[in-house]
Amino acid sequence: MTSFPIPVLGFAAYSGTGKTTLLEALLPKLTAKGLRIGVFKHAHHDFDIDQPGKDSHRLRKAGATQMLIASRNRHALMTETPDKEANFFKLLEQFDHNNLDFILVEGCKNLSFPKIELHREVIGKPWLHPHDDNIFAIASDSVDVQTSLPHVDINDLDAICELVETFVLGNTLTKPSTAASCDTLSPAFLSVEQGLDKILSTLKHPKTCEQQSLFKARLNVLGQDIISPINVPAYCNSAMDGYALRGQDILDGVISFEVVTEILAGRGYASEIQSGQAAKIMTGAPMPQGADTVIMREQSQLIESQLEASNITKLVKFNVYNNEFKLGQNVRQAGEDLAQNSIVFNQGTRITSPELGMLSSLGISNIPVYPQLKVAVFSTGDEVQAPGEVLNDHCIYDSNRFTVMAQLERLGCEVIDLGIIEDSEAALESTLLEASTQANAIISSGGVSVGDADFIKSVLDKIGQINFWRINMRPGRPLAFGHINETPFFGLPGNPVAVMVSFLAFVEPALRLMQGEQNWQPVKLKAETENKVFSRLGRTEFTRGIYHLDKFGQLKVRTTGKQGSGILRSMSEANCIIEIPPHIESAKEGEIVTILPLEGRL
Ligand code: AMP
Ligand code: MG
Repeated sequence: MTSFPIPVLGFAAYSGTGKTTLLEALLPKLTAKGLRIGVFKHAHHDFDIDQPGKDSHRLRKAGATQMLIASRNRHALMTETPDKEANFFKLLEQFDHNNLDFILVEGCKNLSFPKIELHREVIGKPWLHPHDDNIFAIASDSVDVQTSLPHVDINDLDAICELVETFVLGNTLTKPSTAASCDTLSPAFLSVEQGLDKILSTLKHPKTCEQQSLFKARLNVLGQDIISPINVPAYCNSAMDGYALRGQDILDGVISFEVVTEILAGRGYASEIQSGQAAKIMTGAPMPQGADTVIMREQSQLIESQLEASNITKLVKFNVYNNEFKLGQNVRQAGEDLAQNSIVFNQGTRITSPELGMLSSLGISNIPVYPQLKVAVFSTGDEVQAPGEVLNDHCIYDSNRFTVMAQLERLGCEVIDLGIIEDSEAALESTLLEASTQANAIISSGGVSVGDADFIKSVLDKIGQINFWRINMRPGRPLAFGHINETPFFGLPGNPVAVMVSFLAFVEPALRLMQGEQNWQPVKLKAETENKVFSRLGRTEFTRGIYHLDKFGQLKVRTTGKQGSGILRSMSEANCIIEIPPHIESAKEGEIVTILPLEGRL
């Protein structure tokens, strides 16, 4: 996990609020109090601190991915990140924490870390704090703010300075444990993207691979590139039932052809087709020597020969119009689909039906794949009982273990079913430790909400490095993630729909990475919504939806109705999840929304 030794603080404001001017005036006051400040400023993606013509600029343009320029008074490291913007928390790690008291962040309004909201009435913008649980205080010129948060006058620099100082001291001296890790930067929520980033950054692709027989390798991931041992097609063959001949004859106006042989699939013809000759040929049969073109049977007219005396027994005529005719038509060349020694599938490809078909067509019977992942699954909760038992009062049947196990099998994992963990710390501890030695990952459901008194949390805290997060999403806010003896652990929420959605959002991408799949992304489509999709600013809303193509070919989607996170039946009704991102507050009927089809994922 990212360790975070000093407090991080941001100012959340709309542009025009005068944030930079305020910070410029605030910094001298803070430094006068002896605080050493690092500032993180988010800028436009094309910004550059360098100047054309300078040596550093020339060397960067010549190919330096990292450029450190240093002098007696200052130094700067410039790092090129053309593929992907660097992760916010990783960047914060670059500060020299030993020589700072806190980091002040300008920008990054949508990321999760503690912030003070700046608000001016004249700007006419809405309040941010109702939609961002990271805001812990407000500086504004408003007289009636509906909030229980500390509130100071935005023009009172000393008061703001005091807010900052209290925050920094509070997080450094009195609460050393909350300042120890960015995961515990109270009261931070994580966005879905941040949660996933944190999980993926701790996981590794598999290192070794093993030979597996073809069908058993289904749903596994290739550990090496597969090189084709042969040409596909292996030999030049006919793409049609028809007649193989020399195409030039047709261009030269030859009208009737002598049919010298009939070539079936799997057979050959020993001689060479001469001018004026044709071979009756079936789809897939090898092209005879001399012939380069096939005329389809539908364009032919067979004439039984009258010349009994000669060897000619059959003649064929063609109704070919020159503008339709092409030399070499209806012939598949050897290696046309795939040349010998070229790459068929790259390392990281998942083996499914088409891959199996393709590999077997090349005569390959064993392939190098990464080992199958073993995943241990259990449910928690005193009220949870296994189906088949007589239900006790106030209890419910366990559904989560079954949805999770099915989702795991979809992904080609081997499931270790640990059942419902009995209500004792000792049992849970020994089961988890045992699982961490047997399984490549462990998944539980229930008992991970922040503030939850479930004993599972105390056990996890004791035997692993587990973070209990609150994700800005619905359904599925609580999520625990960490490691027990190097084995990744996913603590999913308890609510059945939240479990399935959290699995899709976090567990599936994580397992795919651990299986060795490269750069997997879920399929996302745009569809027009037929009803309003409720959401809340600041969080990702995953709504169950049903999409279809309307008669005009437009993709439409509607919600499945009530969205309670216990309503599993709606998950069965749904064929997609509608994703409303944090910056959008509900989608109105007729608006375009993003959908994630569920086909193949549940
Ligand atoms: P928890 O996060 O443990 O408080 O659980 C939240 C809700 O999900 C509660 O209503 C639980 O009864 C329910 N729940 C927890 N585990 C399961 C399970 N395995 N199957 C079905 N519902 C569950
Ligand atoms: Mg529970």
